Amino acid sequence: MLENISKLNIVRVGSHISFSSLKRIGDGILASFLGMIDQFDVSHHNAPVINSIDAQLLTMVLHQEYGGHTLGITDADLKTQDDDEFYNTIIGGKNPNNDVAVVSTKNLTPDTMTTDNEYNQFIARTLKVSLHEVGHNFGLTDHASYRMGPDGFLCPMSRGEFNKFGYRGYVRAIIDGRGLTFCDECNHFLNRVCRKLTASAKLIADRLVLSA
Ligand SMILES: [Zn+2]
Ligand SMILES: [Zn+2]
Repeated sequence: MLENISKLNIVRVGSHISFSSLKRIGDGILASFLGMIDQFDVSHHNAPVINSIDAQLLTMVLHQEYGGHTLGITDADLKTQDDDEFYNTIIGGKNPNNDVAVVSTKNLTPDTMTTDNEYNQFIARTLKVSLHEVGHNFGLTDHASYRMGPDGFLCPMSRGEFNKFGYRGYVRAIIDGRGLTFCDECNHFLNRVCRKLTASAKLIADRLVLSA
């Protein structure tokens, strides 16, 4: 589905996070998807400040407004239609019908953000959740088990068991435990997807040359 995989729109929804922080996150995404995403744009989505947003609706709005490969980052609660209250707030999600992923920083913010360490932790968490959701955009699926990346940390696609930890415990155990490099299985998949897309882009270019 991804036609132009090499460019990512990073869209801020709400004004909780600075553009320079978003640029750090964008740089991190580029480093982890090296050779797949080579540029990103940062924009601000003008929307009324609200406490919670329907995740599905937000992905549709962002798709309509920005199109293409898009990552929305908000400080609002992202809600799903799930009846179970425990599951109806999500940290991140991806709409399978378009190429838009969304991340909520609501549960990723440390208790206080006064020191550099706390700020860096906030950026690292937001980056790790973003890598996971952008990974879904490329077709990667969750690892229910704990799978290690080459850096010795959990692969960004590790999901773990949510109901074992609760939100705060989950963020500390799984998200803080994730690294920034994908495991062999994910890398293999990414290489295949990337190569396939590059090959089809080349075929179209060849056809264009032939018919010209
Ligand atoms: Zn996932
Ligand atoms: Zn993996």
